[in-house]
Amino acid sequence: PTVPRAGSTLLGYIGIDTIIEQMRKKTMKAGFDFNIMIVGHSGLGKSTLVNTLFKSQVSRWSSGWGGEHKIPKTVEIKAVSHVIEEGGVKMKLTVIDTPGFGDQINNENCWDPISKYINEQYEKFLKEEVNIARKKRIPDTRVHCCLYFISPTGHSLRQLDIEFMKHLSRVVNIIPVIAKSDTMTPDEKNEFKHRVRKELETHGIEYYPQNEFDDDMEDKNENDKIREAMPFAVVGSDKEFQVNGKRVLGRKTAWGVVEVENPNHCEFALLRDFLIRSHLQDLKEVTHNIHYETYRARRLNDNGGLHPISANNTQESNL
Ligand code: GDP
Ligand code: MG
Repeated sequence: PTVPRAGSTLLGYIGIDTIIEQMRKKTMKAGFDFNIMIVGHSGLGKSTLVNTLFKSQVSRWSSGWGGEHKIPKTVEIKAVSHVIEEGGVKMKLTVIDTPGFGDQINNENCWDPISKYINEQYEKFLKEEVNIARKKRIPDTRVHCCLYFISPTGHSLRQLDIEFMKHLSRVVNIIPVIAKSDTMTPDEKNEFKHRVRKELETHGIEYYPQNEFDDDMEDKNENDKIREAMPFAVVGSDKEFQVNGKRVLGRKTAWGVVEVENPNHCEFALLRDFLIRSHLQDLKEVTHNIHYETYRARRLNDNGGLHPISANNTQESNL
């Protein structure tokens, strides 16, 4: 490593600030995991939105996901990983799809397989952590974020929406979004967003970013703005249109082309910026420090301290 010359004079520069560069180099070398789960009944545009979020990198390997219209008889969990690189930084993105959710006649407890999957990933991480010869870097399969798709009915949340978010919001970071928002007029959209927010509040559902985890006033002010704008009303698309001489992703509707990335048209860009450009690291930290920590504490308690955890003994969620 290069030691800055300026450090040699007594009252001069020490070089503490180079930690940032050191961390940057390590992150560049190691890359990072980001695991995102998508939940909502079929046809709400989940696959399309994820492809839109991560651009062609993802759509190349996931084509065929959305095309399938066979509905599984129970909720299935499908995880697909792909490495995306930008500016020399590698992200191993895992998208966890949950086909079959909300598609049954009786949707009672259909969040069970989902909460089981989430807890299994915590369990896996915990086992690695308590291992005597633990890995220097534990592979992270924990779900950092769960995008929950709300149907653009314009009425209210369904019972299932409320039940799911109630059960899961203590276990994982939930980000509710309003799907296919191009099917509503701007007035309907605002009205619906307002109503959904009220309902979430009435039912005491804490979505991400949770009030209680704001670090300081600056954090709180920033997150308040986001919370007031949620749930984001999004539009996804894989079709390009020519607008003012530029090619943009969009959808053709009765009143013209809705541009996916235009903040005057929908809130896709807001969601993308929030999820990736401003809060990705925080999503990972809240997962580790709050959700995983809760699981771990409960697990080690139940286990009477640090006895080895037996294999194949994954706990169901009681949270
Ligand atoms: P999934 O079952 O939730 O994964 O939904 P898909 O992504 O497969 O999309 C289902 C259908 O809805 C496809 O025909 C998409 O073209 C369409 N679709 C996806 N996103 C949107 C959207 O934002 N608005 C509208 N109007 N249609 C969409
Ligand atoms: Mg799909």
